Amino acid sequence: MDNILAARANEVKKETGALADVLQEIYQQLLPVKTGKVADYIPELSKANPDGFGICVVTADGQVFEVGDTAQRFTIQSASKPFVYGLALETWGREHVLARVGVEPTGDSFNAIVLDEESRRPYNPMVNAGAIAVTDMIPGNTSTERLHRLIDYLKGFTDSEDLFVDMPTFTSERTTGHRNRAVVHLMRGFGMVSERFEESLDLYFQQCSLLVSCRDLAVMAATLANSGVNPITHRRAAWSYTVRDVLSVMYTCGMYDSAGEWAFWVGLPAKSGVSGCIFAVAPGQAGIAIYSPRIDAHGNSVRGVRVCEELSRRYNLHLFADHDRPPLFTGS
Ligand code: GLN
Repeated sequence: MDNILAARANEVKKETGALADVLQEIYQQLLPVKTGKVADYIPELSKANPDGFGICVVTADGQVFEVGDTAQRFTIQSASKPFVYGLALETWGREHVLARVGVEPTGDSFNAIVLDEESRRPYNPMVNAGAIAVTDMIPGNTSTERLHRLIDYLKGFTDSEDLFVDMPTFTSERTTGHRNRAVVHLMRGFGMVSERFEESLDLYFQQCSLLVSCRDLAVMAATLANSGVNPITHRRAAWSYTVRDVLSVMYTCGMYDSAGEWAFWVGLPAKSGVSGCIFAVAPGQAGIAIYSPRIDAHGNSVRGVRVCEELSRRYNLHLFADHDRPPLFTGS
């Protein structure tokens, strides 16, 4: 049996090439792509170098493959949402969290000011409204305590000791985040967020302004791919049942109003951020992260989407593909 698997693994390797070479090839192929536009509705984000481009894959057993600007830092933006959702679930349990935020895709843009008319909940925790309601659940006596709790939880998914808020981006979001302010007031009107909602909105802006690298994000994704155990530090960052819930919502809602197309073509749970990052999770196999700031009309990195389509196709990563094949990320 082993021999058959080993032989098949070698065949696959020959067909696809070693992962390091494949990443290099995809990187070179997509480097000339300049479509999309750097987000500027948060003025600080418009300062990003539009040509920045990094791809990193971290396997579920901790091998790191990277190409391009993988150490360059950027603000995590909405890629923080799945992790903070995990923290809320682990703090309060499913029932409490589901009473305030649904798990239904919206088909609307990430910043739509829309709540479920019947239940008055935001539709899901991956769009801004739902994410703000989730952040409102982070406990703590003071705003600093709440921020530290959030940062400490996210740190568990990285191997970096250094996770902090980029103050210029935070200030920029805080002064221009009128839609987020509108939706949090609407939710307060419906009793879906606490009386600390203004502090929670600031906490949400801080969470979006945390600085990470493409490599950090790939480790975070790999931790989800590894059922909550960080494959670099070997520490458990989240319970496996939390990871299951988080990945389910990422799969249906993580790419906003292109979540359906994404599920069809890429077939992996993923999350994007308007700074131009995307991370995708191939359960049991690897975490994939891309940084490339030019985004499309849905708010998703143009090159990031292309990289994931390409990796999913080449390595047969689609969740519903025929997986009667050996593990594919076998190193270089
Ligand atoms: N901080 C951004 C906002 O609230 C996050 C949006 C995103 O990354 N899609 O609009």
